[in-house]
Amino acid sequence: MKSTKFIALAEALERVRGTASKNEKVSILSAYLKGLGPEDARVASRIASGRSSQRGSRDEAQVGYSTLLDVIREVTGATEEEISKVYLKRGDLGEVAEVLLGDKKEQPLFREDLTLAALDDAFARLRATKGQGSSGAKRGTVKSLLLAATPLEGKYIVKVLTGEMRTGLVSGLLKEAIAGAYGLSDEEAERAYMVLGDIGTFAESAAKGDTRSARIQPFRPVNFMLAEPFATPGEIAEHFGRTVYAEYKYDGVRAQVHRSRGAVRVYSRRLEDVTEGFPEVVSAFEGSTREFVLDGEVVPFADGRPLPFQLLQRRLRRQEDFEEARKKAPVTYFAFDILALDGEETTELPLSERRMLLAAVVAGSPVRVAESVDVTTEGEVMAAFRRSKELGYEGLVVKDPGGAYAMGKRGSGWAKLKEELDTLDVVIVGAEYGHGKRAGVISDYTFAVRDGDALKTVGKAYSGLTDKEIGEMTKRLKETTLKDFGYRRQVRPEIVVEVAFDSIQRSGRHDSGFALRFPRIKRIRTDKGPSEIDDIAKVERIFAGQKLKVDEAAR
Ligand code: ATP
Repeated sequence: MKSTKFIALAEALERVRGTASKNEKVSILSAYLKGLGPEDARVASRIASGRSSQRGSRDEAQVGYSTLLDVIREVTGATEEEISKVYLKRGDLGEVAEVLLGDKKEQPLFREDLTLAALDDAFARLRATKGQGSSGAKRGTVKSLLLAATPLEGKYIVKVLTGEMRTGLVSGLLKEAIAGAYGLSDEEAERAYMVLGDIGTFAESAAKGDTRSARIQPFRPVNFMLAEPFATPGEIAEHFGRTVYAEYKYDGVRAQVHRSRGAVRVYSRRLEDVTEGFPEVVSAFEGSTREFVLDGEVVPFADGRPLPFQLLQRRLRRQEDFEEARKKAPVTYFAFDILALDGEETTELPLSERRMLLAAVVAGSPVRVAESVDVTTEGEVMAAFRRSKELGYEGLVVKDPGGAYAMGKRGSGWAKLKEELDTLDVVIVGAEYGHGKRAGVISDYTFAVRDGDALKTVGKAYSGLTDKEIGEMTKRLKETTLKDFGYRRQVRPEIVVEVAFDSIQRSGRHDSGFALRFPRIKRIRTDKGPSEIDDIAKVERIFAGQKLKVDEAAR
């Protein structure tokens, strides 16, 4: 089947972006997909999801802002100032390309319509171009794409390359559109998508009409089962109303391990291939002869105790020499589920049976099965929770022994319980304009705590406020600006906010020497002035408290 023109997809995506209605987004995309064959359906659906490659592949054709800006400048002849002006107004590099590509300085020798297949080839070339000296080749590929593209096509090419699609087409809506285009029931679509893991592979299978035979395959990661948060042991006991497994909540990195034909690969929660980062996990399965897909957590662990999560993070970022970092943060894989064994899917078996299979698979290897105790009452859940905290774990994940493994779902059998850390009252000292639908408003805030008479920054937050609050903040931050650097500004320290966060880590990024992990604004503290904010001593106390728990456990 001949590949169709890319412009039709770009136009459909433009219409999708133009409507706030989810139903309309789905029906526009569904109508567009209807005419496509399997190959084009695969490419188009991936692009609509904002990707150029299959989820789980190690490479994604991303191109840096500076390369893209260079190419846009070269192709359109626009100056840096002109580009910067458009960017400030739109807050999206794709839109910059769209505005400027209307007036190209160079034209291609032969104007040929871009097809989906041609675009897919170009993306594959970009993915394959890596290492030293690759930037010239990348630039060449992007340039020929933008020369061949209409302004609208250019916009969506740049959006894929920057990973900033922002059409509001979340994977659930894409799945619905594909199901609609090829006549699949919701149930069938859900199952096939979860098993196939990647929206493009799912669309291709739907267009071919073979979703029913979709199976978990080695080296094709599937969507992870997720846990629903609960606030108290009492709620958990009531929710299940019977004897359940309380497993420790290990604080590490979620990892799906596939073993087949003698090879082992590790996939992250985002279904990226992260095998290289965890050589110990690969070697842990060296003696194994079986084929399987396991779910579990890679945990920094030594002498029978967990180590602080920060060590693992540093190792992953490879700030230091990897071998050195690896020594400081040795890891153990704690497996808690099995999804396939020797070619058979096991997801529909009850958890109690899956755990027996799991135990048999990892027996004799350095891999450990997550610890679990049976609990029924509120008191038992509480006791298990306390024990987990004493040992340095994060809390509990409580599971129904009769439950199936529900791929990609939250809240169908797993319940998590953890404590929220203390919050901090901080003052905003710097701010930035947002991106996408927050392009015209100041929505990113850098904040500080007190250190004697000085203020020391500890983080940057861009979530937690309503659009209305962001509007008011924008106004106030403009009024209190001390120095305007364009998209960024320094402001008078006046606005106090309360921030929640997941943990505190040491960091050179802020002048306090600490950074909050996943900060979110809980509320604007209009009742507090900057003199009443928290001080660095409190940050240090919380930081030490986190460490203490782990250090105590290590004794
Ligand atoms: P969190 O930030 O609380 O870890 P999350 O959004 O990453 O949450 P959830 O599914 O909501 O993921 O919470 C469960 C997480 O806890 C899993 O993603 C997994 O990484 C981790 N975890 C640790 N131990 C277990 C366990 N025994 N069973 C299941 N998940 C576990």
